[in-house]
Amino acid sequence: MNFTFPRRVTFMVGGLVIALVFAMLALGSVPRTTSAQDSSRDRLPSYFPNTEQLRPDEMRITALGTGLPTPITRAQKSTAWMVELGNGDVFLFDLGTGSMENLFGLRPDFSKIDKVFLSHLHSDHFGDLDAFIVGSWLSGRYTPLHVYGGSGETPELGTKAAVESLVKALAWDIKSRTGLMPDAGGKVIAHEFDYKPENQVVYEDNDVRITSWPAIHSLDGSVSYRLEWNGLSFVFGGDTRPNQWFIDNAKDADFAIHECFPTPEGLAKFNDWDSMKDATFVSSYIHTPPEGFGKVMSAIQPRMAVAFHTVLLPDIRQGMLEGIRKTYDGPLTIANDLMVWNVTKDAITMREAVVPDRVTPPATTEGYQKAPRTGIAKMSDYIMGGVWEGFTPPPLPEK
Ligand SMILES: [Zn+2]
Repeated sequence: MNFTFPRRVTFMVGGLVIALVFAMLALGSVPRTTSAQDSSRDRLPSYFPNTEQLRPDEMRITALGTGLPTPITRAQKSTAWMVELGNGDVFLFDLGTGSMENLFGLRPDFSKIDKVFLSHLHSDHFGDLDAFIVGSWLSGRYTPLHVYGGSGETPELGTKAAVESLVKALAWDIKSRTGLMPDAGGKVIAHEFDYKPENQVVYEDNDVRITSWPAIHSLDGSVSYRLEWNGLSFVFGGDTRPNQWFIDNAKDADFAIHECFPTPEGLAKFNDWDSMKDATFVSSYIHTPPEGFGKVMSAIQPRMAVAFHTVLLPDIRQGMLEGIRKTYDGPLTIANDLMVWNVTKDAITMREAVVPDRVTPPATTEGYQKAPRTGIAKMSDYIMGGVWEGFTPPPLPEK
């Protein structure tokens, strides 16, 4: 196995860390010897967003959400992943509830993020799509958003119906911003494809190819994806019971993400469920329990196997690890929010993003500032008749 795991932190980041540590030591805010410092050797190296240029042959993957539909916590949002490529392309895979908080924390260039691939239409996989449509438009996206996803058993259960309904629900929001924001950024285009074919190309542009195949989860329509670029491959399983399509199409991936649910016992305890029948069904018949995850990864042999879709309470995590290690002994990450991996042909490195709790929105580009804006949102004479004469706003400047 050609897996290597060097510690790669760019000189710029390394320098910044050293400078920060010296500054903190000088200010006396860091005790010089603590037990926490001893354990810090085991911590992941840090990734400081927007301080590192991707190399032309490099892929960077960020976990924006690794949790479940409930509970959504400060520490763990529902499913979302970001893939950035050395050619400048950015792809989102799912946008579960709360994941926009992590994305905003990274302060990305939203003008580059206009493609979202949905694995299925559970809210823990697309519940923040509305927040993304508006938030990314306000913060730099000035071209239409493209949302890809599978058809359903009937048209109303497909991606196109879901996206169009969401845009309809946002009618007031989108209209209210007329003239202030770029026209094209308020548009959303759904690209719905048949969920059934195996290894079908659903996206191809700029040397990036994305294929899909069916997943087995709750209803017809769930899918998994494989992104190929520059000899590197990223696989995102979405939610699924172990299935033959995944085994056939995820083989030898550089980076393979597959869900790993708690064990039936862990799930029953976590949810306080009396029924082991329900817990076993959910854990192992529409999802994948740890031993199943391990078997899947042993069959496909990725350079890095990534487990997600759980709540990382210590006992649940331990149960997952023990279960996985019964059936898989290769490279493994149990993913947590804001973990970051850099993938090249030579190495896969893993870090944690350092993200402040409070940020300003990222700066917009010249393209955003110059993009056409037409019309202006207006209120009726009736409403404007209610303006209070007791306050006079400053005069409106010409520009
Ligand atoms: Zn899910």
